Amino acid sequence: MQLRVGLGFDVHRLVAGRPCVLGGIAIDHPTGPLGHSDGDAVLHALADALLGAAGLDDLGTLFPDSDPRWKGADSRRLLAEVCARVRARGAAIVNCDIVIATEGPRIARHRAAMRESIAGLLGVGVDAVNVKGKSVEGMGALAGGAGVAVQAVCLLALGS
Ligand code: MG
Repeated sequence: MQLRVGLGFDVHRLVAGRPCVLGGIAIDHPTGPLGHSDGDAVLHALADALLGAAGLDDLGTLFPDSDPRWKGADSRRLLAEVCARVRARGAAIVNCDIVIATEGPRIARHRAAMRESIAGLLGVGVDAVNVKGKSVEGMGALAGGAGVAVQAVCLLALGS
């Protein structure tokens, strides 16, 4: 068995008039991620971590934002497609860990629901998925809730 680590990153602006969907759940918040799809930066970063660990392509190549098929796409569908490709490679998901940096929605209130949502999408136990929210201390481009940046790391076990 081979263990492989993957790292993903994503960032989206948070704007008025967009549903706030993060980690596959709808959050009651006046702004939401701007994007070609639903803008779920958490699932995008996670999908890129999974693809990276599996040695597959990246999310932007698999689901280009120039393709009208993915306009307004539910990112849970994109993640399901990524999981299918990872499993087809013979890989099992060991765990993932996610950091969400934003001054938009308060992530702490939604951590438990996000962990359950993501665990369900990945087909793993909740204890294999961790989610943390971080403030950006009022600094930089994300200050004041202008956006959300996400880092995700995952571990895959590849059978021989
Ligand atoms: Mg994205």
